[in-house]
Amino acid sequence: MVEAFAVASGKGGTGKTTSTLALGMALADTYDVTVIDADTGMANILFHAGLSDIDTTLHEVLAGDAPVDDAVYERFGMQVVPCGTSLAGFQEADPTELRDVVASLAEQTDIILLDSPAALDSRTAVLPVVLADRVIIVLQPTVPSLSDALKVQEYALTYGTDIAGVLFNRVTDDEAIADISEQAERYFEGDILATVPETEHARGARRAGKPLLAHAPKSAAAQQYHDAVRSLDIRDGSSDAVADRFRSAVIPENP
Ligand code: ADP
Ligand code: MG
Repeated sequence: MVEAFAVASGKGGTGKTTSTLALGMALADTYDVTVIDADTGMANILFHAGLSDIDTTLHEVLAGDAPVDDAVYERFGMQVVPCGTSLAGFQEADPTELRDVVASLAEQTDIILLDSPAALDSRTAVLPVVLADRVIIVLQPTVPSLSDALKVQEYALTYGTDIAGVLFNRVTDDEAIADISEQAERYFEGDILATVPETEHARGARRAGKPLLAHAPKSAAAQQYHDAVRSLDIRDGSSDAVADRFRSAVIPENP
């Protein structure tokens, strides 16, 4: 059984990486979960997951210099596949190889979460949204963030990727969120999965090199991620079918 999710947003800094690891840990209570840093140009899962001193990352795998298994790390009850942060590593990496990497990991796990790049303007950036079964859209409760997120939705639907739902992050103002939620319900497919507050725990987690659910498991923010996972309603899929779909996916030349 396997389902692949892209965790995406229109802009950087909305909390994709924080949310990918939090959702991954919440899902790992029930499923075998693999989290992949598909944001190969602005990778940061390794900092959020205490992996900054490792040698082999997704960059080496995408460059053909290491087998994928060498870049899979058991952390916090999940398999984590971090990406390196050097410009040279990024330049050496062949983003189209991500299809084979995800395909081979799909054969070994229940759920894949792809931490995705912010913009949709390069072949690398669009891959996760094109390849995933469903997209989880992370946004801050502002109109510009909402409008960027709608572009992600439009893009996903164009390539036959469903919308799992919308996750609001860094929420400070209850009134603003009420108004934005109403608009989000109107414009987005899928549910509003969670409303995660702006919290010092998220910054503390990042500093400690731990996912939020490991750093502050009892926090209100952590609870929101558990609730989000309950409303995700994971679908059954055959691992082989998903792997085949990834391997043979057509990558758009001009996104
Ligand atoms: P992205 O991957 O979308 O660029 P990150 O998850 O790296 O975003 O988050 C960007 C910054 O915002 C990080 O420093 C992170 O610790 C912080 N952050 C994320 N979510 C929250 C939150 N709910 N409250 C406070 N800070 C947050
Ligand atoms: Mg990130």
